[in-house]
Amino acid sequence: MSFRRIEDAPSNKTALVRVDFNVPMADGAVSDDTRLRAALPTIEALRAKGCKIALLAHFDRPKGKRVPEMSLAPVAPALAKLLDAPVAFADDCVGDAAKAAIEALPAGGVILLENTRFHAGEEKNDPELAGEIAALGDFYVNDAFSAAHRAHASTEGLAHVLTAYAGKQMERELDALNSALGDPKRPVLGIVGGAKVSTKLDLLQNLIDKLDRLAIGGGMANTFLYAQGVEIGGSLAEKDMADTARAILAAAKGKCEILLPVDVVVAKEVKPHAEARMTGLNDIGADEKILDAGEETVRKLRDAMKRSRTLIWNGPLGVFETPPFDQATVIAAQEAAELAKAGKLIAVAGGGDTVAALNHAGVADDMTFVSTAGGAFLEWMEGKALPGVEALKR
Ligand code: AMP
Repeated sequence: MSFRRIEDAPSNKTALVRVDFNVPMADGAVSDDTRLRAALPTIEALRAKGCKIALLAHFDRPKGKRVPEMSLAPVAPALAKLLDAPVAFADDCVGDAAKAAIEALPAGGVILLENTRFHAGEEKNDPELAGEIAALGDFYVNDAFSAAHRAHASTEGLAHVLTAYAGKQMERELDALNSALGDPKRPVLGIVGGAKVSTKLDLLQNLIDKLDRLAIGGGMANTFLYAQGVEIGGSLAEKDMADTARAILAAAKGKCEILLPVDVVVAKEVKPHAEARMTGLNDIGADEKILDAGEETVRKLRDAMKRSRTLIWNGPLGVFETPPFDQATVIAAQEAAELAKAGKLIAVAGGGDTVAALNHAGVADDMTFVSTAGGAFLEWMEGKALPGVEALKR
């Protein structure tokens, strides 16, 4: 994938930088600054070039209107603290006041512009809005992979008006994703877990074309087991998707080996430390639910990881929020992290609950890359082109 990087950007100019500052807030202050910290490498790299930095971001869903509770103003002091430098704030992302505030910045100065979604043109990708934003700077940097599945004025439109560069966070994300599905070291193993087949149909269909092996776990595996005639008792399953599940298995034949659970952990209710038992697939009671993968399944999965050079993972293998049904997810995650640390496996994970599951297992930092982007990560796993990324390509 070829795109311009910050190293290629000019010095001593004004950069318009799209970031993801859609941060959790409590009582009018930032309560988790993970996303602010993610933007620091890009900001620092541009400051080192003597560029002025005008930050663009959305916050929440004001739907094209000015909603005072959805102002980005509280983010500026939180960012200033992390940067240990002043961060100015302009109460609009277009117009004369913002222009004057940018002009007043010293070289390397930083300003945060108000919520782009206060303008109806943002989500409509209105070229007029993109033009007005572009008038504030000399070049564009997109560092918001998590918003790249949306073609909005500040995520896509701007890239057609100004020369566009990938920010540091975007660059890391694209390089990691490319190493997992674009041009991976083979064999490539996928793990897809989570609740439902219906929400991950496109993803499964794309993966069986790209992977050498695919392990299916979590609630969605129940649908596959049911489709193969296993009595799954009271387990979560989408019985109306049985034909679809069989079609996926048939389509995978000869190109992608599918690993389904061979044993499971069942219980009568989903509650912490509920009485549970491990069993094969032949004696699941009508009043029992499959809530996790069994030991033999996990052993096979660990073995598959050892025989693979790349792993792409989305979704937990069981009801990981409720111990003891977190065990398969935790043990598999620890194996992936060990192999990644030893340089034997490129382990990339992301999307929805996956980050929470890896944090629960205590291994998120040991994976090769963990994407915190939800929708964008999933759309990319589905093989869809992300407009914000496409616009950066050259
Ligand atoms: P998703 O958002 O599709 O990745 O689904 C994640 C959710 O799937 C988590 O909340 C898990 O508790 C749930 N899940 C995983 N395995 C099972 C299972 N066997 N039965 C019910 N829910 C499950």
